[in-house]
Amino acid sequence: MYSAGDVRIENVPDPQIIEPTDAVIRVTRACVCGSDLWPYQKMERSDSGRVMGHEAIGVVEDVGADVRTIKRGDFVIMPFAFSDGTCVFCHDGLQTSCIHGGFFGTTEVAGAQAEAVRIPLADGTLFPLRAHADDELLASLLTLSDVMGTGHHAAVIARVTPGKSVAVVGDGAVGLCGVIAAKRLGAEQIIILGRHADRIALAKDFGATDVVSERGEAAVERVRELTGGYGVHSVLECVGLEQAMDTAISIARPGGAVGRVGVPQEQTIPGSEPAFYNNVTVGGGPAPVRAYIEDLLPDVLEGNIEPGRVFDRNVGLDGVPDGYRAMNDREAIKVMVTP
Ligand SMILES: [Zn+2]
Repeated sequence: MYSAGDVRIENVPDPQIIEPTDAVIRVTRACVCGSDLWPYQKMERSDSGRVMGHEAIGVVEDVGADVRTIKRGDFVIMPFAFSDGTCVFCHDGLQTSCIHGGFFGTTEVAGAQAEAVRIPLADGTLFPLRAHADDELLASLLTLSDVMGTGHHAAVIARVTPGKSVAVVGDGAVGLCGVIAAKRLGAEQIIILGRHADRIALAKDFGATDVVSERGEAAVERVRELTGGYGVHSVLECVGLEQAMDTAISIARPGGAVGRVGVPQEQTIPGSEPAFYNNVTVGGGPAPVRAYIEDLLPDVLEGNIEPGRVFDRNVGLDGVPDGYRAMNDREAIKVMVTP
């Protein structure tokens, strides 16, 4: 990506082992993230461009001399952040705050919308899949690199537990995975706030019990109507815009919690007053998906959850620029890339 709207497919030098803790993987599947749409809309022109993409599954082609557990030929899930797996925050299960870590698809570390990727700190970062996985599971396995783990994180931070009422703000792929996560954690009522027919239909399949398509104050009123006037225990904020956050805080019931995973596009959090007077806990951030793979993987392998259904388009590398356009125009929910 060279600037907003300017995505090109180019030949670049093959990724190489630079540090002895690196690996190189050949990408089996990658995808375009909703958060990739923020630079797609706003990025300033850059002469060097940025190799985009932070979600992938693939096969290890090469490992550095100090890589111990990851082997050539391993089939791996690549979380969107790399991490050493050994520091104080990795031990706490917060790999996105790893003191030696960072993110793929940045100006510093090339991304995964490519044939191959260099993986820093391979032993801590990559999750090797030792079980056999059928091709039909690839899409769902790919979601464990970000979108399913991120929806799950929103639900965990929003303290979803059995019997709770939940609202999911946003019907993008993360919001839809948030519905899966809320259902999986035992939520009784799951209200999806969104207005795209195809996404709403999928949300219902995933377990949403109610749909609110209003916005702003009307949405708040509608959620209150659906919850006996009080609001929901748990809100998953999966957008990142001010209005979404304002709505999220306003529909939490007193003592409730908001788990925010939409990348914030403003400097301040709205809703300070209702959050304060209702004792609403507001938390969240980049999901430590590396920590969640172990939890979520058995349900994917057993077919109990099918987060791969959020992909409604599959393209080759040449189709990536149009994939960005299609997601940005809300023509596609999420685009998978088969390099
Ligand atoms: Zn660490």
